[in-house]
Amino acid sequence: MLIKENFPLKQFNTFGIDVKAKYFVELKNDDEIVSFISKGFWRDKKFLILNGGSNILFTKDFDGVVMKIITRGIELKDETEESTLVKAKAGENWHQFVCWCISANLGGLENLSLIPGNVGAAPIQNIGAYGVEQKDVFESLEALEMNSCKIITFNRKECKFGYRSSIFKKELKNKYIILSVTYRLSKKPVFNTGYGDIQRELAGAGDKELTLKKISDAICRIRSSKLPDPVKIGSAGSFFKNPAISREKYIDLLKKYPGLPGYPGEKGGYKIPAGWMIDHLGWKGFRHGDAGVCATQALVLVNYGHADGSEILKLAQKIQESVETEFGIILEPEVNIY
Ligand code: NAP
Repeated sequence: MLIKENFPLKQFNTFGIDVKAKYFVELKNDDEIVSFISKGFWRDKKFLILNGGSNILFTKDFDGVVMKIITRGIELKDETEESTLVKAKAGENWHQFVCWCISANLGGLENLSLIPGNVGAAPIQNIGAYGVEQKDVFESLEALEMNSCKIITFNRKECKFGYRSSIFKKELKNKYIILSVTYRLSKKPVFNTGYGDIQRELAGAGDKELTLKKISDAICRIRSSKLPDPVKIGSAGSFFKNPAISREKYIDLLKKYPGLPGYPGEKGGYKIPAGWMIDHLGWKGFRHGDAGVCATQALVLVNYGHADGSEILKLAQKIQESVETEFGIILEPEVNIY
């Protein structure tokens, strides 16, 4: 467990921003995590628990301790006739984990194929896609309470999952390190193909007999066609959250923008695709220096090579301002900004 100093983070954030961490440590199993936390090196410093680095924008060097979780392991737990519990360590790559479940013929996570990041980050923002959220099959998680160094188990209710949120983004932010997550997956999966994009993609493939693998493949094709190739272009996926507005506000906006999509959301309100508004304002494909807006998905900001984080942030702020001026809606970043 070596603490490295002035450590470059470029390869540890998917935006590819070239910054350094004052201290950097990789923790490869739960014992190392417990031991590092109990020794207290992090206590009087800024700290960051880094998983896949896929939801983060560094705007400057990180003047503190970066703890990179690289724990690995997937195991099958209890089984019933209907379902199986699968437990994965926090450092497992999310998409590889989803593929592992599909090859074991266990259903529930296939719609979440190709979401970047690691297992440990999935419950924090309750990742979701195409009508499924990880909470739908979530059983429990184990997390280390950093102050007391106790390992606590949280069930679904205790995680307080909401739309792209959980207790770990709110009142327990920066208080726990997630060590592992357990999902209850189905041996007799019910396919969830209600979203238009999936229906069109599956219809295009012309294959009527569905399998978990076919759904996952269709989603991978959709995502790959919209999102920048991570090997060539840096990004952190969707930069902004899709905002929720009241029914009254949505009806009002429809008078001016009859094409504005809206989907019934929480508490009688409507979810509005942020990408639609950004696209409507002409930002799609915009580029200034190496900071830009993806040409195929307006919700994704990109680094064409050497943008620094503050250039990306400046672009994000301009987009926020123009959306607020035109639609009266404040876009909130989904990405964590440091
Ligand atoms: P999209 O499919 O263009 O959808 C944009 C927005 O419209 C989202 O808010 C989506 O809700 C909503 N929507 C679309 N069809 C819907 C339907 N039939 N019923 C209800 N709501 C509908 O979005 P995209 O940016 O290309 O992303 C595709 C999927 O990946 C979306 O589900 C998106 O949420 C998900 N995604 C998740 C993450 C993450 O978890 N961090 C990051 C990027 C994208 P939902 O958001 O509820 O689906």
